[in-house]
Amino acid sequence: MSIQIQNVSKRFGSFQALKDVSIDIQSGELIALLGPSGSGKTSLLRVIAGLEASDGGDILFDGQTITNRHPKERNVGFVFQHYALFRHMTVFNNVAYGLKVRPRKTRPSKEKIKDKVMELLQLVKLENFAERYPTQLSGGQRQRVALARALAVEPKVLLLDEPFGALDAKVRKELRRWLRKLHDEFHITSIFVTHDQEEALDVADRIVVMNNGQIEQIGSPDEVYTHPKSPFVYDFLGNVNLFKGRLHNGHLTHGEFTIAVPDSYAHTQEDAVGYVRPHNIQIKKTAVSGTVPAKVSHIHLLGPIVQIELRRKDVDEYLEAELSKEQYHTLQLKVGDEVFVKPKELKVFIPEDFSI
Ligand code: ATP
Repeated sequence: MSIQIQNVSKRFGSFQALKDVSIDIQSGELIALLGPSGSGKTSLLRVIAGLEASDGGDILFDGQTITNRHPKERNVGFVFQHYALFRHMTVFNNVAYGLKVRPRKTRPSKEKIKDKVMELLQLVKLENFAERYPTQLSGGQRQRVALARALAVEPKVLLLDEPFGALDAKVRKELRRWLRKLHDEFHITSIFVTHDQEEALDVADRIVVMNNGQIEQIGSPDEVYTHPKSPFVYDFLGNVNLFKGRLHNGHLTHGEFTIAVPDSYAHTQEDAVGYVRPHNIQIKKTAVSGTVPAKVSHIHLLGPIVQIELRRKDVDEYLEAELSKEQYHTLQLKVGDEVFVKPKELKVFIPEDFSI
C-alpha cells in the first residue's frame, strides 16, 4: 500500500505540532521518522492511524483519501513503545484478539485462528510461550508479542512508535535487525518512530528527519548521513566537529587551519561554519602540510572503534576523532601524546538563517 501525506498540519490549542508535512511513501517501504523529542513524530503517526484528526491536508492510501476514515477502517497495525498487551490474557489470546473480535461474517473459524496465531508465534520465536501471561515475559519478548498481534489482522500498513525504546541496547539491536528481516519477508509498508539515529540508519529504507513539526530532509540513510541538507540534520545524524571561520579563496580559515572547501564556495567571502565528522579528523605523529599541533586528552575504547579527544594548541578548542582499532594500534596513541591533526571532507554551511 502506498501512502501520500499531503500538506498535513496539526494544532494542539495554539501550539502547532505539525506544519505542512508532505511525504510520498512507496508500497513496501520501511520508513523511519527521526527527530528530537517534541518534533512531531508521534503526532504524525497518530494522524496516519486516524487516532488524531489533522487540521489540514490529506492522507491517501493507494491514491484514495482516507483522511476522514475511522481508524478501524484504515487497515493499519500499531505497535507502541510500552507494550500495550492485555495483561489478563495469555500470549496466545493477545495475538488472537484482533481476529476474535471481528464481526461474525469475516471472523475466521477457531481452527483457522489457532493456526494463524501459532504461525505468527513461530515467526516471532515464541511458539513455546503461548500459554504465558505478559508479566511472565521479558521486555523484548513482550514487544515481539505486540508485533505478532499487530500482524495477525494482516494490516496493509504497520505503524511502530518507538517499538524498542524501552529495551536495553543489546536487545534493541537484535530486535531492529529482526524487524528488518521480517519486513523483507512481508513487504508491509511500515513507518517507525525513533529518536535514535543509529536505529534509523541501520534499518530504514528512507529516513524522514523532523524538527519543530516540519520535515528537514527525506532520503536514504546514506544520503542524509553523507549529504545532510542543513546544520540540524548534520548535527542530529552523528557527532560533529565545528570550525567557525571565514571563507576566502576557496578555503576556510580557523585558527591555524586553512581548509580547502568544496568548489561551489571557491568565490565566496563570508563567515561560515565547517562541519567534519570525527572519522574525517586525521591524526599524524609528525607535522605535514595542513596539520596543526594537538594533545591527546582522552581515549574511549568503544568496541571496534576508538574515540580520541584532542586539545588543539592553536586555539583553545577540543576535537573529536574516530579511529578503527587497527588505525589506533598502528598509531600507538596514549593520553598526553603530542600529535598533529587535519580535517578532511569539510561540509560548509553559511549561517544566514540558522543560529550557531
Ligand atoms: P517524543 O520523541 O518525545 O515522543 P515526538 O516527536 O513524538 O516526541 P509529539 O509527541 O508528536 O513529538 O509531540 C509534538 C508536540 O506536540 C509536543 O510539543 C507535544 O507537547 C505536543 N502535543 C502532543 N500531543 C498533544 C496533546 N494531546 N495536547 C497538547 N499538546 C500535545
